[in-house]
Amino acid sequence: MIRLAIVGLGKIARDQHLPAIEKTEGIELVAIASRNATLEGVAHFTSLDELLASDVAVDAVALCTPPQVRREQAALALSHGKHVLLEKPPGATVSELAPLVAAAQASGKTLFATWHSRFAPAVEPARAFLAEHAPRAVMVEWKEDVRVWHPGQDWIFEPGGLGVFDPGINALSILTRILPNPFFLTKASLGFPANRDAPIEAALDFADSTGVPIRAELDFLQTGPQTWDIHVETGAGRLTLSLGGSRLFLDGKALIEAPEAEYPGIYKHFVDLVARGAGDVDLAPLQHVADAFLLGRRIVVAPFEG
Ligand code: NAP
Repeated sequence: MIRLAIVGLGKIARDQHLPAIEKTEGIELVAIASRNATLEGVAHFTSLDELLASDVAVDAVALCTPPQVRREQAALALSHGKHVLLEKPPGATVSELAPLVAAAQASGKTLFATWHSRFAPAVEPARAFLAEHAPRAVMVEWKEDVRVWHPGQDWIFEPGGLGVFDPGINALSILTRILPNPFFLTKASLGFPANRDAPIEAALDFADSTGVPIRAELDFLQTGPQTWDIHVETGAGRLTLSLGGSRLFLDGKALIEAPEAEYPGIYKHFVDLVARGAGDVDLAPLQHVADAFLLGRRIVVAPFEG
């Protein structure tokens, strides 16, 4: 049984981690490190340092804090011999991950950089389909209302918060899993609100190693119906993953409509990784975001008031 502590009891910890841990065999929640919140029946500490200095025994920590503070927490937990589960994105920079991977390997502990969208039910069937039927063109539309999904989360528009790439990286985590060939950014434009440090909209053009065009349009200001769709044109028809990978269609005909179970999938995989003494850190989605910041043209757009 893995004794787990959650660090940062915010939206994702409450909405997804707590119920998923409850449902997963082989792992139990024994502590919370939260500056503001407590949870009945669970040991509470105001920081990870305080938790690690206590006599409450934990084997692993799930870091559900914003990306800007996670590296330090991960390094601290690994230095105390804990397994570490990282929320996405795995860090605020690409370079910070290599030392964490090395520390995990040196201590024989698991470091798992989660990509929750990869556990959506349409993802593995889409990957299998595209291994058989080569993509000819890909279109991603990832458009949501930041005011609905991230109320009061100022960190998201601060440096390292990724802005619209906070959800957009989920699309990239699916693309990097399902497409048969590596792909590269060729052009991008990023719209930064005049009063913020992270983009609120982005348009990205990629090509894969065989020249297949991939376009991604990200928007954080979409009101009304929300769009998290990936369309792939193939010789066998148009494959569509919709609702963030929870549904799969071929030429509009439903192939998969399964209930959402991303976080139970994450925790099952974490328990398995710990049991095998393995790690799982794939930086490809974060590298694409870093490329967008490197290559993207910056456009100043209207100020954003939360
Ligand atoms: P959130 O609601 O702002 O929660 C993050 C929590 O981290 C805060 O409640 C706070 O917890 C702690 N925290 C905030 N700033 C901190 C700081 N400077 N130092 C230490 N702790 C700090 O954000 P969230 O939506 O849960 O997102 C957290 C991570 O999960 C992000 O990387 C996000 O991309 C990812 N995620 C979010 C969603 C979603 O739908 N919201 C979905 C999937 C993944 P305490 O008050 O307990 O200390």
